[in-house]
Amino acid sequence: MNLTDGIINIKGIGEKTAKSFNSLGIETIDDLIHYYPRAYKTYTEPVSVSSTAEGDRVAVLCRIVSYVETRKGRRYTITSLSAADDTGSIRMVWFNMPFLRSAFHKGEVFVFFGTIKYKGNMRVMEMPEFFTQFNYEKTMSSMQPVYHLKAGVTNGAITRAIRGVLPVIEALPDYLPEKVLSEKDLMSFSEAIKEIHFPENEPALKRALKRIAFDEFLQFLIKIRKLREDSVSLPNRHPITGESVLKREAFEAGLPFTLTQGQKDAIADITKDMQSDFVMNRLIQGDVGSGKTIVAAEALLMNSISGYQGALMVPTEVLAMQHFEDISKLMKPYKLKVRLLTGSMSVKEKRTVYEELKSGECSIVIGTHAIIQDKTEFKNLGLVITDEQHRFGVKQRDRLEEKGDMPHVLVMSATPIPRTLAIIIYADMDISVIKELPAERKRIKNCVVGTDYRPSAYKFIKQQISEGRQAYVICPMVEEGEGSELENVMSYAEDLSAVLGEKVRIDYLHGRMKESEKSEILHKFTSGETDILVSTTVIEVGINNPNATVMMIENAERFGLAQLHQLRGRVGRGSYQSYAIFINVKKSNESIERLKVLEDSNDGFFIASEDLRLRGPGDFFGIRQSGDMDFRIADIYKHADMLRLAQDVSIEYGDVLAK
Ligand code: ADP
Ligand code: MG
Repeated sequence: MNLTDGIINIKGIGEKTAKSFNSLGIETIDDLIHYYPRAYKTYTEPVSVSSTAEGDRVAVLCRIVSYVETRKGRRYTITSLSAADDTGSIRMVWFNMPFLRSAFHKGEVFVFFGTIKYKGNMRVMEMPEFFTQFNYEKTMSSMQPVYHLKAGVTNGAITRAIRGVLPVIEALPDYLPEKVLSEKDLMSFSEAIKEIHFPENEPALKRALKRIAFDEFLQFLIKIRKLREDSVSLPNRHPITGESVLKREAFEAGLPFTLTQGQKDAIADITKDMQSDFVMNRLIQGDVGSGKTIVAAEALLMNSISGYQGALMVPTEVLAMQHFEDISKLMKPYKLKVRLLTGSMSVKEKRTVYEELKSGECSIVIGTHAIIQDKTEFKNLGLVITDEQHRFGVKQRDRLEEKGDMPHVLVMSATPIPRTLAIIIYADMDISVIKELPAERKRIKNCVVGTDYRPSAYKFIKQQISEGRQAYVICPMVEEGEGSELENVMSYAEDLSAVLGEKVRIDYLHGRMKESEKSEILHKFTSGETDILVSTTVIEVGINNPNATVMMIENAERFGLAQLHQLRGRVGRGSYQSYAIFINVKKSNESIERLKVLEDSNDGFFIASEDLRLRGPGDFFGIRQSGDMDFRIADIYKHADMLRLAQDVSIEYGDVLAK
């Protein structure tokens, strides 16, 4: 077997399995071995029922003490039973798995593994895994890989397939010279791949992750070096006119607020770049809510008034829609045609936009990846902007640039990367940092509380709504085997509605919805037709509704700090006092300490560094901030030492390795 062989060559994989693997992007053996687990499951020693608290993810050894019941709910069939040990009982519940009925009998003993919830005074586990005692002991304490899955592919199938190619993995050559490996104390490539799928223990896994992070950084840095060499002093083919600068200044004077110094400086940098002899290549870094959109709008304005087209690419349709609405409004007085381009638009709508871009009739296009499809052609593209840059890869940025003849490039990111790391990662760019938030902003008030605070939180939200404000409630993403996202947000919304009454308008949103559906729901929220939006973290990226003043986050302990900071950044975007309520369900000392960081600080840079300091050893994949560079494992905070090491190696060995 070779790395480039199709997975069909693996024993046990037939046409059908191969097809479903393909849908996960796994075509070759090479793809397979780089399909890393998203987490590891460690099955822990069973505990007594009475010792468990809400939110605990535990195993319990219990006897079935009731008959198995199956009934039809409104949305699904529910199979349930009661199980107990000497200390207490738990109701076990499964959705849409009626076949389980015959798997259990009163009196039998099983180990159930799942998350403890409370329904009233009763302990419940929804969708628990179950094992015979014998099987459980066999799996206990080993680290089992957990992979991202799609319909038709099971975790077991991926695990088996990778086991099937272990001989190939063991024979993998290392492209790093032996000398570098020993000098820098790096694990060999083949060992790292093996360990990441089947870790022997935590320390070995950590070393494997480090090695893979190192590889990802190194490859990235070599690519960046090449980019920089290619782009150094490219001539400016799209210089902006003096008139456009004057008009931009007039535009600025007409805004309902004054720009912050950071915004002014960023715009000054951009203006200078776009007037200079060389093409612009600039990163705007600014914390959530620092007002990056207006900076982008001004760049687009100068570019279009100077007679060129501009494109703004964002990671989600929802955000595209929102930017489109805002920027269209701003551009109205200038008679510049602004268009939206997203994947969910009809073929006919898209065709109109393609035609207008080709003819030059459309000056500004705002959209998602749809902008970089083959079909889009521009007449005269002078400026490309990517917002929330950390969600894109370098490749996508390149493809956007290729749509024009050396257009200016502006990228915007809210990722708080320390300057020392930013200059390595963005070695090919100039950087402007917007440090401060607009002055009129009131500092967000934070509180970290337990579940017993929920009723007060709801009351508070209701009061804010009666004053005309709006609120977000974030449910955590569902974990494997905990039911669907839809179920999750829907049942929360229903419960909330029961508490707050009919008059409060509640809507819900989750990641699996169609883009068009998501846009509609968000639109209703931003236009004030809904009072509360119950959502998963899909709203994390960039959504702006200055009228929303409460962000309530359930199971806050399950999220990374940086992600919580992004979520919190959805409120406090207008002049109203805003509030973030973090519900800490699992009140461990560790989660209390972590969440306290958020309570004490609203500064993204500080939070990112604390997050790094506090991330426990069990948390292998915190937040991968660096989706930016197509990293799968590497995390610029967590593996900062590997980034520096890769930087050294790329300087020392870059030419040898680049070939
Ligand atoms: P982000 O940097 O997170 O993308 P946005 O550009 O979405 O932030 O801006 C957040 C909100 O702040 C918007 O409603 C915007 O109109 C407003 N805003 C931007 N700049 C200022 C400013 N200088 N003063 C007051 N409000 C501002
Ligand atoms: Mg933004």
